Amino acid sequence: MSKVKSSNLGYPRIGEKREWKKALEQFWTGKLEKAEFLDQIEEIRLKHLQKQNDQGIDLIPVGDFSLYDHVLDTAVMFGIVPKRFEYAGGKVSLETYFDIARGTTGAVASEMTKWFNTNYHYIVPELDGAVPTLVENRPLQFYKEAKQKLGINGKPVILGPVTFVKLSKGYKENDFKAVVDQFVPLYANILRELQEEGVEWVQIDEPILSTTLLKEEISLFNDVYQTLNEAAPNVKVILQTYFDSIEHYEDVISLPVQGIGLDFAHDRGQNLAALKKHGFPEDKVLAAGVIDGRNIWRANLDEKYAILAEISEIVSKNQLIVQPSSSLLHVPVTVKSEETLDGVLKGALSFADEKLHELVILTKGLQDGKEAIEKEIEVSTNAIQTLNESSIRNNTQVQEAIQNLHTYKAEREAIFNVRQGIQEEAFQLPLLPTTTIGSFPQTQEVRKQRLKWRKGEITDAAYEEYIKAEIKKWIEIQEEIGLDVFVHGEFERTDMVEFFGEKLAGFQFTKFGWVQSYGSRCVKPPLIYGDVSYKKSMTVEETVYAQSLTDKPVKGMLTGPITILNWSFVRDDISRNDVTNQIALALRKEVEALEENGIRMIQVDEPAIREGLPLKHENRESYLNAAVYAFKLATTSVQNDTQIHTHMCYSDFKNIIDAIKALDADVISIETSRSHGELIYAFEENTYDQGIGLGVYDIHSPRVPKIEELTRNIDRALQVLDPKLFWINPDCGLKTRGINETVAALKVMIEAAEQTREKL
Ligand code: GLN
Ligand code: ZN
Repeated sequence: MSKVKSSNLGYPRIGEKREWKKALEQFWTGKLEKAEFLDQIEEIRLKHLQKQNDQGIDLIPVGDFSLYDHVLDTAVMFGIVPKRFEYAGGKVSLETYFDIARGTTGAVASEMTKWFNTNYHYIVPELDGAVPTLVENRPLQFYKEAKQKLGINGKPVILGPVTFVKLSKGYKENDFKAVVDQFVPLYANILRELQEEGVEWVQIDEPILSTTLLKEEISLFNDVYQTLNEAAPNVKVILQTYFDSIEHYEDVISLPVQGIGLDFAHDRGQNLAALKKHGFPEDKVLAAGVIDGRNIWRANLDEKYAILAEISEIVSKNQLIVQPSSSLLHVPVTVKSEETLDGVLKGALSFADEKLHELVILTKGLQDGKEAIEKEIEVSTNAIQTLNESSIRNNTQVQEAIQNLHTYKAEREAIFNVRQGIQEEAFQLPLLPTTTIGSFPQTQEVRKQRLKWRKGEITDAAYEEYIKAEIKKWIEIQEEIGLDVFVHGEFERTDMVEFFGEKLAGFQFTKFGWVQSYGSRCVKPPLIYGDVSYKKSMTVEETVYAQSLTDKPVKGMLTGPITILNWSFVRDDISRNDVTNQIALALRKEVEALEENGIRMIQVDEPAIREGLPLKHENRESYLNAAVYAFKLATTSVQNDTQIHTHMCYSDFKNIIDAIKALDADVISIETSRSHGELIYAFEENTYDQGIGLGVYDIHSPRVPKIEELTRNIDRALQVLDPKLFWINPDCGLKTRGINETVAALKVMIEAAEQTREKL
């Protein structure tokens, strides 16, 4: 009898204790020889496969592991190396590979950008007319490795040609199909060789199918996969989609492949609805992504089983594969490492390893009937119920406030034009006021003091004294530089989300809950597990102290609700909008506390607003409306003469300019370095008539900019923006920079502002 199969789409690379990161960084700094490094990496890779095998997963992904990024892996497999790096053809060396990613030999690294709507960044392939060739068959290599070393018949994972080219740059939009066609024969070769090796299953990822696509675009998939099918008819290809429902369901399920992978966790019910409405081909396998690959909560196995039961009314069990909704790259490795976490919370968590276990249970249930997993279902339901009913999850005051949101005014007292006059009067700033984005250099000494304090080696009072001394030092430096609006420097903060998470109720921090963000860089998102509420003021003391040292206005500095939400793992028992508004209400209290204590400029940063944008166009408006509402809920209760600032990173503002305007901030500062001229272009097409500072120099490099570069940037901005509304600032926080270069660069910026003022 054939059996229901379990499968995984990808496993975290970093290791339980970030062994992978450590090996990489030691290799980069020369502390680890290449041979030793490769040995360590192999050990990690094999261990991960073994773990999945031990759990009882049937289809174990191979080739998803990476030394940096899977999109870069795909590019180098085809010999795609930007011209500025050394490359003479053939297999791309490890050194060149890292060079493309990191720019270590002086050539500029390739651009990186967010992988769909996640916080994972991939390296953007630069095609630039290069003729791709298959210089190594990576999937084959990793398949053989797993087979020879562990006896595992893995499932090679390959990034599909259409998505790969879509994510690349260096070709004209009109040539898209022709470029894809260049890659298809190479993919055919990969599959042919896999077939010769006796590979049964292959997973080809085409997440682009979960974005908004025209119906005509599906025909390209038809051509591509027809060719691949003819090249290797004995390999069973699962066309894998994730992160949302697929567009044009009927066309996609008819494509010439043997299996379709669908996300049943982030599809807002649409994949299931389409399946029920249109059915599913009898000759295909459905790989059903029921376990959420993006979140860290224990699955409600009863509900998951119910979805599978519904699916199995349409798809026969021997055509069903049970799997996570996406790669597990986006969740931490194992809950087991969290020894100190509160038991109720820990009981309701599930990281990668626990999710694999859930998959195995569900597979068993589908195979042997629900009775066979009754006990496990009960355990999961109880764990979730206990957390849901716990007092920390339920703060009745917060819940009442959310129910009565309409009683909170989320509009400023006066419209911008009126406020502008009042604020001009109140602040008496020069034309083109100068300021910075918030943080000043977090030197080793700052980090050392914080670590000592965290370890209890210095007292709270001593640490506070140290922070105050830093603030004082930088107020003096800002006076000397001649800035118009000051900041306190954020020396007390490691991370702009963690800092607030630690001070608000409803957040929890794990010890080892890391996920890869880019390259070896990992982040540890906080868990928002309970109702979020305000405990006591979070930023007032430092800000008021800074303000007491100067006559210049000091901006209070907060992180906005959408950014806190997007950079956390969020509870899924209530809507994301409710969580966002809970955070907004807490921030509103902080805004009010700052104002009451005499702080008249308050900046609420929203660098993550763009990345949360839904993949499907039709869902964007409601997301942006909710984001704008939350921002206004947090910021609008102030007097007309209190100036609200905001700051955003990221280049692609085209789709969100209306939302940016709707925030109704008095002043916005935007990062521009990564968008070059494009951003200005966006403002040519759309007028923006509130205060705005387009970052005039790039803080990502230690280089001190030349005055001409700055005046050129300012002049260009002033062609489209009103000088009465224009601010001059660097394009992001200065936390990662050194002291000397920061002071030097800011002095050049002040000089550029003065020169421009004289011309006006
Ligand atoms: N205020 C923050 C800082 O200056 C903003 C950081 C960001 O935009 N990512 O560090
Ligand atoms: Zn920024």
